[in-house]
Amino acid sequence: MVLHVGKNTRFGQDLEVEIVVGRWVAKVVVRFGYVGLVGVHPLGLAAVWFNHTGAMSPSGTLVTDMPELPEVETIRRQLAPLLPGRSVTGADSHGSEKFLPARLIVGARFATVGRRGKYLIIGLDEDHELVVHLGMTGQLLHAATVDALAPLRFGTDPHVRAEWLLDDGAILVYRDVRRFGRLRVVETGDYSSIATLATIGPEPLDQTFTAAGLHEAVSKSTRHIKTQLLSQRPVAGIGNIYADEALWAASIDPAARTISRPAAARLHHAIRSVIRSAIDNGGTTLRDYRTADGSSGSNQFALVCYGRGGEPCLRCETPLRSKVIDARTTTWCPACQRR
Ligand SMILES: [Zn+2]
Repeated sequence: MVLHVGKNTRFGQDLEVEIVVGRWVAKVVVRFGYVGLVGVHPLGLAAVWFNHTGAMSPSGTLVTDMPELPEVETIRRQLAPLLPGRSVTGADSHGSEKFLPARLIVGARFATVGRRGKYLIIGLDEDHELVVHLGMTGQLLHAATVDALAPLRFGTDPHVRAEWLLDDGAILVYRDVRRFGRLRVVETGDYSSIATLATIGPEPLDQTFTAAGLHEAVSKSTRHIKTQLLSQRPVAGIGNIYADEALWAASIDPAARTISRPAAARLHHAIRSVIRSAIDNGGTTLRDYRTADGSSGSNQFALVCYGRGGEPCLRCETPLRSKVIDARTTTWCPACQRR
């Protein structure tokens, strides 16, 4: 049994006690005025949240809302000059079905480093792709020499799920504390086995993502607008952090079920702006996210809504509210985010 007590200093409200028993991680988390009892297992996650009055809320996510498009794009940009042309000379991985595909690419050569939404897509020769989804706590680390990552080798660091040795002496390591990530090897462009990727919406920074297209996409559903954004269908790559940020910037209630054309135009602009700034800042590091060279992003210092429940809205000074909507902790301004 491992007992770990952690405090996130960036978000002073976040205190947690973690108890690891076998494959279960039990956590008591105090966050944003809520107390959560959380069980994390490789097969899933269960959580119960209590607010300050003792009222119980439905299960919610807790640990990290990461990584989203800007974090994966930051990693892609770092790996793009390093991987193409390199061959995989050796690989090792955890034996689970989620990480075993790492071993399939020994002998293959990297050709391209692409991305779709939150998926990193590494093109291989002979018409295959390695698809990497970082889940909640995944890290993809590259070093020019094996020695540079000696403490993070497979079999040495218990959280390293896969590693690849390259023909130039470099090493690529996949590390994932919570094991919500996944590796797949697919035929080029065939995402039929990856449901979210097969139905993913346009890239937010592409010309194909338009205000009219966003309005049309969200008008097809009556689910909460935030939940629709998280589904990846109206637009790719948005998770809990950038959904809260973009909805705040567009002054839209995250629980709205329909939005007007002008609101869709504001949201379109806000999504592009929030994503572009976060990429410029190298992504948001709350806890686990690291870029491919192991450094932290800096966008956590630019967040204006996410994680600020109880603090004053930067637009109108009303205290921001925070509650679980569709199983995700959501923060918004009750005064200036009306539908
Ligand atoms: Zn406000």
